[in-house]
Amino acid sequence: MKLLVKKLRESYIDSPARTQRSIQIETVISLTFDDAYESIYLNAYPSMKERGFRGVVFAVAGLVGGYFEGHKIMNEKQLHELYNNGWEIGSHTFSHPWSLTSGKYTMEQYAAEITLSKHKLEKLGFDVISFSYIHGFHSAKPMIEEVEKSYNYARTSDQGINAVCQSNLFLKSVVFANDKLNDVKHWIDKVKSKGGWLVITCHGIVPDSTPLPGPIYGWSHKTAFDRLLNYIEEKEIQVTTFRDLIEGIGDYKPARAGGFNNS
Ligand SMILES: [Zn+2]
Repeated sequence: MKLLVKKLRESYIDSPARTQRSIQIETVISLTFDDAYESIYLNAYPSMKERGFRGVVFAVAGLVGGYFEGHKIMNEKQLHELYNNGWEIGSHTFSHPWSLTSGKYTMEQYAAEITLSKHKLEKLGFDVISFSYIHGFHSAKPMIEEVEKSYNYARTSDQGINAVCQSNLFLKSVVFANDKLNDVKHWIDKVKSKGGWLVITCHGIVPDSTPLPGPIYGWSHKTAFDRLLNYIEEKEIQVTTFRDLIEGIGDYKPARAGGFNNS
């Protein structure tokens, strides 16, 4: 165990983009961004970079460089800049079909949205190991079977903390939005005191002067997002991508394998 922690620490020290703080291997936070809005590149990325944090962007493979619900999506160049700075690019389907969770798709349609989206992102030059369910829903069995073929991790919107692990297709998360800062701080306190892996879900992050699209969309202003990052920094919790966990933990087996007590 000591050797693995040392290995992880060294790998962080080797890379200037990574924080050099000591690592508590059983207490980590991941910041994830659904839909890959350009506002993440413009507003979240600089704040993250300043602090040595790197995130996970779940891109809709068929919408790269386009628009989703009227909001601009990052183009290839912007995604590559994040990727080259240690961010992870995961898949959030090919076309973001809201009805994907219905269970009424054919296997070909599931394959097109789930597996081909990964291939498309790989063609763009990204190594993809993670997936984010549309709306966080994961009830359709054929959808899960398709996810299982191609990904190590898949993130849901079920609230909670995860055990640190190398594979989990039902990762719990907490949604961050402007009005959810205190809730998320509470979850950060919880992971700090009990250990585990807290995954935070974000959407668009926009300047304070830009109106938010509405509470259900889970967007936030830059000041609120910066407060979230400051809080994580104050608590001295390591921020990691999913890929970092796989590479960093090696053969590491979490003490709480098989589930995490969220009570
Ligand atoms: Zn989405």
